[in-house]
Amino acid sequence: MDVNPSPHQTRFLDALQASLGADVIRRDQDSRHAHGGDDSTRHQLPLAVLLPVDADQVVAAVRLCREHGIALTARGAGTGTTGAAVPARGSVVLSLARMDRIVRIDPGQRLAVVQPGVINARLQEAAADHGFFWAPDPASAQTCTIGGNLACNAGGPRTVKYGATRDNVLALTAVDGQGRRFQSTRPLSKQATGYDLTRLLVGSEGTLAVIVEAALKLTPLPQARAVLQARFDDIAAATHAVGRLLACAQTPAAVEFLDGKSLRLARRHGGDVVPEAGALLLIQIEGSAADLAGQAAAVAEAVRVRGLAGLDEAREPQHQERLWAARRALSPALRSVAPKKINEDVVVPIPALPELTVFLDRLERDSGLTIVCFGHAGNGNLHVNLMYDPADAAQATAAPLALAQLFEKVVALGGTLSGEHGIGLSKRPFMPLAVDPVALSLMRGLKQVFDPDGILNPGKVLPD
Ligand SMILES: Cc1cc2nc3c(=O)[nH]c(=O)nc-3n(C[C@H](O)[C@H](O)[C@H](O)COP(=O)(O)OP(=O)(O)OC[C@H]3O[C@@H](n4cnc5c(N)ncnc54)[C@H](O)[C@@H]3O)c2cc1C
Repeated sequence: MDVNPSPHQTRFLDALQASLGADVIRRDQDSRHAHGGDDSTRHQLPLAVLLPVDADQVVAAVRLCREHGIALTARGAGTGTTGAAVPARGSVVLSLARMDRIVRIDPGQRLAVVQPGVINARLQEAAADHGFFWAPDPASAQTCTIGGNLACNAGGPRTVKYGATRDNVLALTAVDGQGRRFQSTRPLSKQATGYDLTRLLVGSEGTLAVIVEAALKLTPLPQARAVLQARFDDIAAATHAVGRLLACAQTPAAVEFLDGKSLRLARRHGGDVVPEAGALLLIQIEGSAADLAGQAAAVAEAVRVRGLAGLDEAREPQHQERLWAARRALSPALRSVAPKKINEDVVVPIPALPELTVFLDRLERDSGLTIVCFGHAGNGNLHVNLMYDPADAAQATAAPLALAQLFEKVVALGGTLSGEHGIGLSKRPFMPLAVDPVALSLMRGLKQVFDPDGILNPGKVLPD
């Protein structure tokens, strides 16, 4: 977009400044540039950046945007991977970074009330002081905000046992596209009173409302934890074990998967601490100290399938860290494969995991790209990384084609586009492939109800 605003845009910015105060609006080039992108590396210069300190200022900002026909994109920390926080051309960014108060933690109701700009890790520390945690555990926890977690329905390894963000929210206060503040419901752990607007807003990526406060469900910290590392000859054996694990009465906290190629790659960087195997499962169990032995025995029994090559159990934190080393070595290792990656987080039914991995081998051969696959097998949620060099014309052409083939296959297997990163800009064109046409039309209707003028994060989630 133009670096300098048009006369209409200047009048709008002056009105914002007069209403909210000079401290809330940033019109300089550096601030605008710093708030124009996210981890997808997409970027669009916003008209201005707003940094409200309370919900009243959010209401005033949305109303002024509507009055002047200017769109706005809510922003947490900009760690999203799909371009969801990248503003549309000619719009403003509404950063919630300064609304970062933990309002209260109420252990007696297993409840935390927070503003959206609170960083996930900060809430975890505060909750831990009371013997609790908030279940959503994205790898970006040190930097991402609760508002971003809510807007993307973030998850992580422990989603298997505790659910994703959507399962750990009691109520939201939000501002719709007409600048109306509302509470989705009361923060109660049990209720049956009308439509569930809370769950609707979670995962809506700032397209239905701006979240200004959240009442979150807290979970008691487990007393004890153990990690089991199961090595298999091949992927089919590992995925067979995943199904058996989930069929157990006691749910593991995490069931993470690495294929043989990921392991070889991780070994090159992490050294001998990363084992050699055709596939690997990392299974974390949590509970009372008394429970743990029984859970570990159940896991050992479940993974004892044809093709199990070895099993280790770690109770001591240091030993646990060693077992997790394979997984941790992977992200830095990926950077050495190719300058760019398309990092997808597709989901398939667990029994379809072997077919997906066979397909990925074929896709790798046909496309000439390196494809590395690992992730949250306990939810059928795999991170498929299509590695490519944008300077290589053949690879640059092959990558988007391979992506389209991946999504087609995933949907054909009964799966869907995203398990935790969301849709944003990058997966929007594929929505008709994955979502029932009537459901898609109902989604468009909801967008119209919440945001009749289409000013909230336009161009995201729903296809044109
Ligand atoms: C290294 C790395 C690891 C990651 N690991 C994981 C992972 O394990 N699991 C996972 O789920 N994700 C992961 N992510 C993705 C990302 O961190 C999450 O999606 C996170 O929830 C985004 O939070 P954010 O504060 O950065 O949001 P942003 O990127 O700023 O925004 C994301 C979306 O939320 C909207 N939004 C933000 N705040 C609000 C609000 N208050 N009201 C309404 N809408 C709002 C924005 O408009 C945008 O649509 C990872 C990202 C990185 C870079």
